[in-house]
Amino acid sequence: MSETTSDTPVKRPTATIDLPGDWTYAPSTESTDPVTVADRYGLYINGGWQKPASGEWFPTIDPSTEEQLSEVASANSADVGRAVKAARTAFEEVWGPMSGAERAKYLFRIARMIQERAREISILETMDGGKPIRESRDFDIPQAAAHLFYHAGWADKLEYAFPGLEPKPLGVAAQVIPWNFPFLMLAWKVAPALATGNTVVLKPAETTSLTALLFAQICEEAGLPPGVFNLVTGAGETGSDLVTHPDVDKVAFTGSTAVGKKIQSQLAGTEKKLTLELGGKGAHVVFDDAALDDAVEGVVNGIFFNQGHVCCAGSRLLVQETIHDRFVDKLKRRLSTLRVGYPLDKNTDVGAINSKMQRDKITELVESGVADGAEIYQPECELPERGFWFVPTLFTDVSQSHRIAQEEIFGPVLSVLTFRDPDEAVKRANNTPYGLSAGVWTQKGSRILWMADRLDAGVVWANTFNQFDPSSPFGGYKESGFGREGGRQGLLAYMDTGI
Ligand code: NAP
Ligand code: MG
Repeated sequence: MSETTSDTPVKRPTATIDLPGDWTYAPSTESTDPVTVADRYGLYINGGWQKPASGEWFPTIDPSTEEQLSEVASANSADVGRAVKAARTAFEEVWGPMSGAERAKYLFRIARMIQERAREISILETMDGGKPIRESRDFDIPQAAAHLFYHAGWADKLEYAFPGLEPKPLGVAAQVIPWNFPFLMLAWKVAPALATGNTVVLKPAETTSLTALLFAQICEEAGLPPGVFNLVTGAGETGSDLVTHPDVDKVAFTGSTAVGKKIQSQLAGTEKKLTLELGGKGAHVVFDDAALDDAVEGVVNGIFFNQGHVCCAGSRLLVQETIHDRFVDKLKRRLSTLRVGYPLDKNTDVGAINSKMQRDKITELVESGVADGAEIYQPECELPERGFWFVPTLFTDVSQSHRIAQEEIFGPVLSVLTFRDPDEAVKRANNTPYGLSAGVWTQKGSRILWMADRLDAGVVWANTFNQFDPSSPFGGYKESGFGREGGRQGLLAYMDTGI
């Protein structure tokens, strides 16, 4: 891309943490050349680009520089209405009647195009959202392509997925996604919906619309029939207009528990099918027989991956009392080697916080931890002057009642608690309103199974963390929502099987 849309070049921050000894990392910055960002983006409706009826646009920025990247259309209810109408027509006339084998061809084509343009999409994802390029390049975008490939494979085999039933698509799917994995969450939503014969209207998060807009361009280039995929950008109100639109058959929402609850109450009494993927407060349980150095890596990955903006982050560490001090020492040492800095630097471990609002939310919760009497540890690290940042943070002496042990922080903040035996570990792990993820570190296989049976979590990782595969269903219990994404179970959310 031409560096950015602004006239004056912005000084890029670089990772500033020195390694022990004389070794330091030289910056290794990914070029933005493969990316072209337009000054302004319209709405992608019925296979074409349209101006918003409101005549309004809003800026999207790079959170690591606060530099404006582009302007994005703000869709109002009239735009949402046009998008839903286009999706309805496409469902009835083209996509619904099309054979699964034909649908699969489009999905395979889109998946291949994502692979071909993976570098460009990764860079844009990092620019618009602030996550390290290492993660968008090695995780988000390859996973997104994998979801499309996986679901393309199901499109002509749906009767085998549900033997004895006659699964039918639901119709128009309204999908609303958050900003933490913008392109990947889009793929999690769009791939199963289209594979099963539904059409889509999607609203991305306000701070991260650019890769969704790039996806719309890919759909256009892939020749996807008009109206099959529609994109309405905008703020929460646009999302609300979309999920409450009367001609929508299915709502799939990923975001906060507060908004999820609101949507659930708005949809009560309607025929709309709903899935909610909401927040989490995952427990990472480390027993005294675990391979401690591996566990340290797992725990660090579990909470500092994507700046901790991860619904299934292992944000509570439950460590067996006998190894607490040893384990916390190791963790602190590891934290001090994390490199916080410019997300396009390939050395960066922890990038920018997605928005000022999120940075302020993290700050407020961290201050509450200090005020409640927990002990804070933050490694020394120099943060860039501009942009939104948060130092990797560790709290010890945390008790169950502290807000930092109960509320989702959605930032690079780990709360450490202890337990004495497996019963207490389970009780403490389950002591939150959430139920999305958990991790167990122990060398005893029987204990892993015993724990997995008792933990209230949609996914339990054993001696690893944050492992994903399109064939493996993901979703929550309790206030983490309901419904599954991925795997055969994920298809069910988009199908009427008659039962
Ligand atoms: P959020 O505020 O709930 O927003 C999510 C999406 O909903 C955004 O596109 C947002 O638009 C839109 N929205 C806001 N108000 C709405 C309304 N009244 N009706 C319909 N849509 C509305 O959540 P967030 O802060 O962006 O995302 C972080 C949350 O997502 C965390 O709690 C995290 O745990 C959760 N999450 C869950 C999963 C999972 O699979 N369980 C995965 C990723 C994230 P704006 O962007 O304009 O506000
Ligand atoms: Mg942005």
